[in-house]
Amino acid sequence: MNLYGALEAGGTKMVCAIADESGNILERVSLPTRTPAETMPEMIAFFQKFDICSLGIGCFGPVDLNPGSKTYGYITSTPKLAWENYPIVQEFQKALNVPVGFDTDVNAAALGEATWGCTKDVKCSIYITIGTGVGVGVIVDGKPHHGMLHPEGGHILLNRHPNDPMEHNFCPYHTNCMENFAAGPAIQARWGKPAAELADRREVWELEAYYIGQALCNYILLLSPERIVLGGGVMHQQQLMPLIHKEVAAQLNGYIRCDQMEHLEDYIVPASLQDNQGILGCAKLAMDALKAEGVKA
Ligand code: ADP
Ligand code: ZN
Repeated sequence: MNLYGALEAGGTKMVCAIADESGNILERVSLPTRTPAETMPEMIAFFQKFDICSLGIGCFGPVDLNPGSKTYGYITSTPKLAWENYPIVQEFQKALNVPVGFDTDVNAAALGEATWGCTKDVKCSIYITIGTGVGVGVIVDGKPHHGMLHPEGGHILLNRHPNDPMEHNFCPYHTNCMENFAAGPAIQARWGKPAAELADRREVWELEAYYIGQALCNYILLLSPERIVLGGGVMHQQQLMPLIHKEVAAQLNGYIRCDQMEHLEDYIVPASLQDNQGILGCAKLAMDALKAEGVKA
């Protein structure tokens, strides 16, 4: 049985796992993200305990995904300064001597859902995480879309709601991007309490749905995804989903006509893999890296 290494590299924790071909997670550890000098040896020691064929990394970013670039496989301009310009792919290749697949954390989650989850029956889908930040992973023809760099859909610009009481900007780059309005910390800054403690405040979730709905309309109009998956901590608020469906219908205003628009509850759906979509997507990156190596040889 082939074993695959999977690493979901986050700013606060590094989830390392071993998976089989069918997407079963056989082993898993979660290590705090400290400096590379401290955390890399711990992760390498974990993966060395198993006879893995390849490794897949879904990484916080920005990262360099361009195979033609000198800094391919690097974490580039991250605010996590200890990891800035760190060649994470090369370091794992050196230590483990196996093919290494690499993508953004949110593309990995999109790929996890597209391989084993609720978008496995479609070719073009998007996965949006709304948590500490907002990220958008785009799957086109079954593969994560990269383009010039990788999509940064969390920073698309939105109209501010005229009654939004938010006083301070949360995104350091933009005064009116999706992340600035809708990420978990923005909710807390706006309403003075962590998002998880605001479940019974309807106005909180109506405003949140206004921003998420607006962003989804843009993604739908531009990318025409066949299904949209919403994950991340903020989406644990289950009252949010129906409000989002209502907003999307209202804001599209009948312009897009197809079956999906008649059944928005099957079109815009919650993540389906119990928060394992990210790590499972990393396992799929590992499988794809092994296959690509076979093609080269
Ligand atoms: P990360 O984005 O850091 O990978 P999460 O997706 O879990 O991790 O997002 C964490 C953020 O999500 C927290 O900052 C908080 O604002 C928000 N959050 C977490 N749990 C809930 C909840 N039950 N309800 C609403 N918001 C939540
Ligand atoms: Zn921004």
